[in-house]
Amino acid sequence: TLANLKVDLTAPNGKQFALPTGLFINNKFVKSTSGNKITSINPTDEREICSVEAACAEDIDKAVDAARAAFDHETWKDMSGTERGLLMFRLADLIEQHKEVLATIETWDNGKPFADSMSIDLPDVINTLRYYAGYADKIHGQTIPISNRKFAYTLRRPLGVCAQIIPWNYPLMMAAWKLGPALACGNTVVLKPAEQTPLSVLYFANLLREVGFPSGVVNIVNGYGKEAGQALASHMGVDKIAFTGSTATGKQIMKSASINLKNVTLETGGKSPLLVFSDADIEQAAVWAHIGIMSNMGQICTATSRILVQESVHDAFVEQFRQVIKSMSKIGDPFVPDTSHGPQATKEQYDRILSFVESGKFEGATLATGGEPCPVNGKGYFIEPTVFTNVKASMKIYRDEVFGPFCVIVPFKTEEEAIALANDSMYGLGAAVFSKNLELSHRVASHIEAGTVWINSSQDSDFRVPFGGYKQSGIGRELGEDGLAAYTQTKAVHVNMGTRL
Ligand code: NAD
Repeated sequence: TLANLKVDLTAPNGKQFALPTGLFINNKFVKSTSGNKITSINPTDEREICSVEAACAEDIDKAVDAARAAFDHETWKDMSGTERGLLMFRLADLIEQHKEVLATIETWDNGKPFADSMSIDLPDVINTLRYYAGYADKIHGQTIPISNRKFAYTLRRPLGVCAQIIPWNYPLMMAAWKLGPALACGNTVVLKPAEQTPLSVLYFANLLREVGFPSGVVNIVNGYGKEAGQALASHMGVDKIAFTGSTATGKQIMKSASINLKNVTLETGGKSPLLVFSDADIEQAAVWAHIGIMSNMGQICTATSRILVQESVHDAFVEQFRQVIKSMSKIGDPFVPDTSHGPQATKEQYDRILSFVESGKFEGATLATGGEPCPVNGKGYFIEPTVFTNVKASMKIYRDEVFGPFCVIVPFKTEEEAIALANDSMYGLGAAVFSKNLELSHRVASHIEAGTVWINSSQDSDFRVPFGGYKQSGIGRELGEDGLAAYTQTKAVHVNMGTRL
């Protein structure tokens, strides 16, 4: 059956490759029990790319069983950290060799500019895997003296079978952020990609197999959230669940995870503020603000979608920002080299963003620029970079995550008001501060309720730096050394060296 579980594809950029389409369980690509499929759509021309197998609850059982057997098997259990790290280094090397194909699939399926897939997504995948590969033999505990005859030592043990549910905005990157620390710490995994972008991770699965990970250590099952995702989150055989996606789904997952008190880490939504103080370099602030909200067509959980500008420079900033949008947003086919702005990933998101444009107008905000679909060659889910001014904090466009190239600009008078406005959100993922005043910048950074703050920058993300949310933006941290904590548990062993009773 393996022969018919792959397709030969030619991408819009001419790249030819074979793509496996099965569920990846026990190092084999298999059919789904139910026969369900996911059909993937190219958001640029709205045409079908191909169909892949979609897991049902029974398939999730098989994947979890495979991960459990692998976790208990000596091949993995007894493998040294150094050897685990080597496998991960080899995987990173192989991804580097196949970088162009992987970037091609990512852009074809998701719509993000090919230049970004090549210069942002794939390098981040490779770096993250190497970073955690290096940690695989550096995960150890402490020795704690108690008395002359007693001491304790701690061991950092893996959690077991980890379910990982990821979104469609950075399919391979999110897979690497989740797999890297999980594997370094010696866990086994069932990864469920988003149904909107099921393709690149299948090619990735093939590389994993080639590298020689023992069977069942990583299982990759495409499937729909309501079915496969739900089945994973509520599975009794899963020890941990890690999720990136919407806050609403995150809450659902926590509820499902309570069935057996799974360890839960969540990275959910945001409505991140970007603050521009009157002494800031306005030109630079406008450029970074553009990167902050328009990169990846606004489909970034830390997108700086609320721009707060000190009153005295508000109008100048709005004008400057409009200019920057005009010169920096190159809307077009994502495979054209200078395109910076491709389509939204799905029709659903496209419709959702346009409904926010209507909501903004309806609530009385001013559409300063954009707000319209802008198809390329008459097709695709393209939306113009969109900015609203005259926005009140009570409006839906100020409060809700849009997840598109869509932001609001709001004036503030004082530092105190800026902080209050910035923190007036159920979210707390990212925040940017623009000012030349050192004291003010760091003071504001310390008062803002967010897991990441950028000073005179925005959207910097680095595999060495912990990432995650305050408030309803998440639980736990990914990346950096902190990222290991999400995939280990501490065992304390008390030793009596001769205290006799
Ligand atoms: P979502 O949260 O519903 O989906 C993310 C992942 O969760 C997918 O793999 C999906 O299959 C899975 N899932 C969905 N329902 C599930 C359930 N009940 N149990 C288990 N898994 C489930 O996100 P979406 O519907 O693709 O997008 C909706 C909104 O989420 C967007 O408009 C955006 O605001 C936000 N979003 C945020 C991020 C982020 O990185 N923070 C990423 C994508 C989307």
